Amino acid sequence: MFRNLIGPVQAWLLSQGQCVGCGMPLSEGSTRNKKDGSVLITCKCGRTYFKFGEKKYRRAKMSEISE
Ligand SMILES: [Zn+2]
Repeated sequence: MFRNLIGPVQAWLLSQGQCVGCGMPLSEGSTRNKKDGSVLITCKCGRTYFKFGEKKYRRAKMSEISE
């Protein structure tokens, strides 16, 4: 039950441009441009996201963060 709930909530937070862990606006996170042109956002709480488009975000996998 819990697992069914967490997905939509996280998706909603991300659609609002907010961290799924702490709710901080990702526009306030630290950004890092990767070599392939993608933009990594690291939140204060340590979660990492990719930014794509004007205000779209998705969670970054561990393997995508290190290079
Ligand atoms: Zn956070």
